[in-house]
Amino acid sequence: MNTPNSFRTGPDENGHFGMFGGRFVAETLMPLILDLEKAYQDAKADPAYKAEMDAGLKHYVGRPSPLYFAERLTEHLRGVAAAEGRDGGAKIYFKREELNHTGSHKVNNVLGQILLARRMGKPRIIAETGAGQHGVATATLCARYGLKCVVYMGALDVSRQAPNVFRMKMLGAEVVPVQAGARTLKDAMNEALRDWVTNVHDTFYCIGTVAGPHPYPAMVRDFQSIIGHETRAQMLEQEGRLPDSLIACIGGGSNAMGLFHPFLDDPHVKIWGVEAAGHGIPSGQHAASLTGGRPGVLHGNRTYLLMDDDGQIAEAHSISAGLDYPGIGPEHSWLHDTGRASYISATDEEALAAFQLVSRLEGIIPALEPAHALAKVVELAPTLPKDHLMVVNLSGRGDKDIPQVAEILGTRI
Ligand SMILES: *Cc1c(COP(=O)(O)O)cnc(C)c1O
Repeated sequence: MNTPNSFRTGPDENGHFGMFGGRFVAETLMPLILDLEKAYQDAKADPAYKAEMDAGLKHYVGRPSPLYFAERLTEHLRGVAAAEGRDGGAKIYFKREELNHTGSHKVNNVLGQILLARRMGKPRIIAETGAGQHGVATATLCARYGLKCVVYMGALDVSRQAPNVFRMKMLGAEVVPVQAGARTLKDAMNEALRDWVTNVHDTFYCIGTVAGPHPYPAMVRDFQSIIGHETRAQMLEQEGRLPDSLIACIGGGSNAMGLFHPFLDDPHVKIWGVEAAGHGIPSGQHAASLTGGRPGVLHGNRTYLLMDDDGQIAEAHSISAGLDYPGIGPEHSWLHDTGRASYISATDEEALAAFQLVSRLEGIIPALEPAHALAKVVELAPTLPKDHLMVVNLSGRGDKDIPQVAEILGTRI
């Protein structure tokens, strides 16, 4: 495949990143998608929209999030390198997205979309959610702006994620359990797309990751790119130069794309995406679409997907509900095939170990999702030189995972 002049100009006008992306939607949905695309183009060019966004990010979300030198984790992994007879151990920084209001990066994107919905005069917001983090962020901003909120959630996830269901209801949202299919995120997204077609006149669909039909993958990426833009400025200020590597976990890929995108045209910055390997890739019980899937079409775009031999979408598995999606954003598929980014994976067990290690060494309990990225930091950092600057995206905090982790570790709370 030819290397493009820039990795940052895509997608093309039809939403293609190389052979990936696009808009594979019912004809009835096309006018809505074109409306949304136009509204987003207009908003991007309007200083009033930017000012509203900047104010919301600062005063409501709590940005900028700190770029924090993880000194004890760095020292610990230098000790590991030394024990193996190597004088190495990268200098590790955390981008602290877990400090955002609602506890993850999701709110960066939701704020952008809700302000857009207001501009478009849409009073009713719908969203899909898996673990409930995107649902909570959407319900939060709907409360803040007085909009009606309906969240589609697989019935299995509704029973597994009871605290987040309650949070959404407290915030005034209606949670609709979806009984179709495996009753998880994929089915919730199908149902939300169906709702959108039926309620075209007053409804805005707020998608939670860099997936869906064009313009969603590019629009969500733009909203999340605040993560990478801040990281650039903060690293320049703290170290006087750019980082040597970036690493982030991947469910649909929005926190990763937000960190990566501003660095795609700095070829010396190494980029790692970490998928969920669940019980291990050979077990077939995982959520690693790039490592263990192949290209197909789902939810309006072409991308790598987990499929069985007949081309049916396979069920994903991960200890972390937020990574439990059988697809990945199309831009990641393209970065994978062009070789600009490298995609690796971490098992449930590795993530659980990193969750505990980072809690004890840094006093920060990470969510299980970024614990996958941290697991690979633990593996990679000791093999790198001491002057290597590595940034890991701490996409969310672990509070939501405490009951699950306690149960796995055999503790009753
Ligand atoms: C939802 C979520 C993810 C996965 O979504 P991406 O779109 O891949 O970022 C990762 N981390 C946290 C904390 C989440 O809530």
